[in-house]
Parts: sequence; C-alpha cells; structure tokens
Amino acid sequence: MPNKFSSAAGTCGFALASKGSRSSRCDFAKCCLRVAVVGGGLAGLSVADRLCKLGVGEVVLFDPNPIGVGNASAVAAGMLHKFTPRGKKAFMADEAFQRSQEMISESAPNSIIYHGALFRAAVTEKQEKDYIKASQLNPDSELLLLQGDEVQCSVPQSPARMGLLIRDAFIIDTKMYMKELWNKCVSTGAASHRLERVKSPADLFDSGFDSVVIAAGYQSNDLVPQHMNMQRKQGRNVIFRKRSSGSVFNIPMVSGKYLVPQRDNDLLAGATVEAVDPNVNERGISETLEALGTRIFELYPDLEEHYEPASVTSGVRGIPIRPPGIAPLPYLSSPSPNVWLIAGLASRGLLHHALLADLLTNALVSNDPSLLPEELQSGID
Ligand SMILES: Cc1cc2nc3c(=O)[nH]c(=O)nc-3n(C[C@H](O)[C@H](O)[C@H](O)COP(=O)(O)OP(=O)(O)OC[C@H]3O[C@@H](n4cnc5c(N)ncnc54)[C@H](O)[C@@H]3O)c2cc1C
Repeated sequence: MPNKFSSAAGTCGFALASKGSRSSRCDFAKCCLRVAVVGGGLAGLSVADRLCKLGVGEVVLFDPNPIGVGNASAVAAGMLHKFTPRGKKAFMADEAFQRSQEMISESAPNSIIYHGALFRAAVTEKQEKDYIKASQLNPDSELLLLQGDEVQCSVPQSPARMGLLIRDAFIIDTKMYMKELWNKCVSTGAASHRLERVKSPADLFDSGFDSVVIAAGYQSNDLVPQHMNMQRKQGRNVIFRKRSSGSVFNIPMVSGKYLVPQRDNDLLAGATVEAVDPNVNERGISETLEALGTRIFELYPDLEEHYEPASVTSGVRGIPIRPPGIAPLPYLSSPSPNVWLIAGLASRGLLHHALLADLLTNALVSNDPSLLPEELQSGID
C-alpha cells in the first residue's frame, strides 16, 4: 500500500538535512499528505478539524449527507458531562470534557444552549445505592446527592425521592456545532466535502489518498469488517413545544430516558435503548411516544400540561460489545497500514469526540499507531 507520508518525510528529511530540524521535516511531510475522512458526524468532523489545524495538505470528507444531516450526531440530545449512568466518571472524563469545551468554544460558542446542572433521577433501589456510593467517592463535589425535600427544592419538576445532581453539564445544539466546525475546516482552504458513500478504503487509496480515516458511526463495521464488534442501538426522540399557558422546564433530567431543554423553550424527550426498527421513518408521534414508554412521564408527570408533542427524530448509534459489567470504550485504532478508525462513541460522542480526534490525528501525522492508547484498540476496558 502506498505511503506517501513516510516517503515525503524521507525526501524532506534529506532536503532539509542541513537545517536538522525534526519539526521542519514533519511540517513539510504534513503539507504533502492527502487524507480521506469517511463520515461527517462528530467523529469525522473533529478529526477533519484537527488535521486542518495540524497543517495537513488536503482533507476530503466523504459523506452522502450534507453536514449536520447524517446519522446519530444529527439527532443527539446534546448532553455533555463527565458521568456514566452509575455516577462514575467516564473514560478520561476530565481531559475529554476539557478538550470538548475547547473545541466547541473555539468553533461554535453559539451552539451552547445551556450550561448548568443536570439531574440523574434514581428510580430503582440499585440506582439509589449507586448514587450514594458515587457521591461518597467523588472527592471534588462535582456531584451532589439530593434526597427527599432537597430534590423538590433543586429540581422542582421531578417527583423522584433521590438523585444525583451533576453540577457541570452542557446542552449543545449539535447540528449547529457540526456546521460551524465544518465551516472552520473549510476556511483553512485545506478541506472539502464530497457527497459520496465510500464502498471500501481501497478505492480511496486507488484515488491517491495517503491515509483513510473511518469515522462512519455504526456503519464503520461495514468498512473494516472483522476488526471490531459493535452493536447497533436506535435512539428515538419526540420534540415537545411549550403550550402558551405552560411553564418552562429548566433542568435536564436523565434516567434511562432523557428530558432535555432545547432552543426556543422546546423540550426533547427520548431514549437510545430500543432495538433497531427498519421502518422508523414511518413512525409518527404517538407510536414514538409509545415506544419510549411511561418513564418519560414518570420523570416529569406534568409534561403534557405544559408541553405538546410536535415532531419526532431518530438515529442509530454504535456501541462496542463488551463482557457484562465492563464499561464500553470507543474504538481508536489502525486496522491496517494507513487506515485509521474512530468509532463506537456510544452515548458519549460529545464527551469523547475532541480528545479522540486529538489522539488519532497525532498518531496519523506521526504515522505511528503505537501512540494510540492500547485499551482503545480493542474497545474493551
Ligand atoms: C437519539 C440519540 C441521542 C443521543 N444523545 C446524545 C447526547 O445527548 N450526548 C452525547 O454525547 N451523545 C449522544 N448520542 C450519541 C452520539 O450521537 C454519538 O456518540 C455520536 O454522534 C457518534 O458520532 P459518529 O460521528 O461516530 O457517528 P454518526 O453521527 O453516526 O456519523 C457517521 C456518519 O458517517 C456517514 N457514513 C456512514 N457510512 C458511510 C460511508 N460508507 N461513506 C461515507 N459516509 C458514511 C453517515 O452518513 C454519518 O453522517 C445520541 C445518539 C442518539 C442516536
């Protein structure tokens, strides 16, 4: 397989030998690189952004959909915070949270809809135990355990008797964020978009690309078969509009299902746990509400008094399959020479996209897969 990167580095190293600067050699080689990024969701766009920032010569994004219209990223509820459903910190959560905030505020500060607390309501005894433990283990008060009247006081719309308040959370308008992130890439002059579905990485090498990044969400499985084991889960949302007499729902709430404030006082209710429904696009509001079940109304019993359902959205996300009890980690690897994979972001795309893009692009421009964290290469913690 051709590797213009290493040959460019070699030529350049020879040409600039008298200057003897390692960074000069790298800069020259990067300018010669042509990279194809397959998939224009959060993963592909953040990789494209980092490649442009690193000075790569040409970045071509392949996606049959316009930016912000693709699969999971386009329908994400927009929640960005550090904690898993059991109240533990997610993989590299502190660093990932920091990098995501930086990428969002550098490229699309207006996409931040909300910054404040998020409430995880405990609805089972197990959750109550998990949340008590999580609040005891968390040394820096990022989590607050609320019980009894404390819930009523801090989250008046919740009937729960216990829950965790995650103090630092964001809600992002993901579509707007993706469009602005892409505009930033295009403004460098190095990036372009082809409205095409890629059949195989080999076709891209035949077209003269030096490296190929697979960032095709749950469909990444089809492009690098036998390398990973991903499960598909469908997410379905109902967007509610505030009734003129209704009052505004203000603190995002999660407990398996989620209720998340959106722009213009809209409210997104949804879940990402159902099996994939091949006819999902034909489902209307009442069928979607039925599929979401009663938990939405248990989280917020006054929902229908204050809001009316207006539309539905859906998307499929990919989750690495792992043994029971083991946290899912995304895939970040190089399945074959000059092919790079970023997939399986599961329900934490907003938390992990910027950190993973940094790790992947540094390894790519150095042409050194050993720079990728070992635990992410198998997708198992
Ligand atoms: C309903 C729902 C709600 C969610 N809410 C949240 C949330 O609140 N917070 C959070 O952090 N995460 C959330 N997630 C998860 C989050 O959306 C994903 O982790 C993230 O969007 C995955 O991004 P991605 O780029 O890997 O995949 P995707 O967004 O699925 O993007 C993949 C892209 O690849 C393209 N593609 C596929 N195959 C090809 C091909 N052969 N050639 C070219 N292009 C191709 C597709 O068109 C698509 O645009 C939610 C997911 C769903 C479904």
